[in-house]
Amino acid sequence: MRITCLTDIHANLPALDAVLAAVGTADAVWVLGDVVGYGPDPDAVVERLREIGAVVVRGNHDAAAIGAIPVTDFNADARAAAEWTARTIGAETRAWLAALPETRVEGDFTLAHGSPRDPTWEYVHGRWVAEENLAHFSTPYAIVGHTHVPCVFRRDSAEMVEILPGDGARLTLDARRCIINPGGVGQPRDGDPRACAMTLETETRTLTWQRIAYPIAETQERMRAAGLPSRLVARLAYGQ
Ligand code: ZN
Repeated sequence: MRITCLTDIHANLPALDAVLAAVGTADAVWVLGDVVGYGPDPDAVVERLREIGAVVVRGNHDAAAIGAIPVTDFNADARAAAEWTARTIGAETRAWLAALPETRVEGDFTLAHGSPRDPTWEYVHGRWVAEENLAHFSTPYAIVGHTHVPCVFRRDSAEMVEILPGDGARLTLDARRCIINPGGVGQPRDGDPRACAMTLETETRTLTWQRIAYPIAETQERMRAAGLPSRLVARLAYGQ
């Protein structure tokens, strides 16, 4: 099976469509949450994911959009965008978001947004957090999002190792347990503004990361028209 793994789309339809066109045909699409929030097209992004039958877990921005968690825990810009999203989405989007589970198990992979231990809030952004999380999932591997940075934490015999996969990077899975992050589609934060995608080939057990250019100005224009915070508009151009 060839599986496209995406995360943190954040209502950025031009980024999602560019990614889907670039990765080609897949047997499945897994999405690690934060489908909405920050971006201008929550309904259209959800509609696209429904069309392609994506397997999705719920992120903190998805939860905020339906009132399942308080937006008071967000910073000012994220909060403004979350409130805009909550006001803007239609009933079908709301129902679809409300039905998303926090975690799922697909074969050898546990899917969660933040971390297996705390799918809504925890960032797996360091080796120690990754190490602690190994006890919180029973599959060999976990795939998460939330940091918007492509990354793998792999448990070698002596220690947890952090790998930062660039464009075109490949990794073969083996007996070592891993926590894997495909990187963000709709708001990358590793200094590269291009969207991220990761392809999992289950036969060869390989992961391949890809960076995909998309019309950033188009998303920015739609964010301005929606009245979303200007700092959120600006950061897309810097990948920050
Ligand atoms: Zn996010």
